[in-house]
Amino acid sequence: MRCSNKLNFQSRREAEKHADFWFDRNEKMKPYLCNAHRSWHIGHDRASENPVTRIHRILEEGYE
Ligand SMILES: [Zn+2]
Repeated sequence: MRCSNKLNFQSRREAEKHADFWFDRNEKMKPYLCNAHRSWHIGHDRASENPVTRIHRILEEGYE
């Protein structure tokens, strides 16, 4: 699972602190809870994705 390479955070608050530093040029990064690791990661804000991109991400990364 690709998210195994991601940073793990024990709380949303901790993830949000790091989200300020980890962002792409155009996309905002947002904390999300990972069921596989039972911890928080930082990822792209999926609300801004189109549905096709979102489905591909879900299939590839296995979260949500
Ligand atoms: Zn994970």
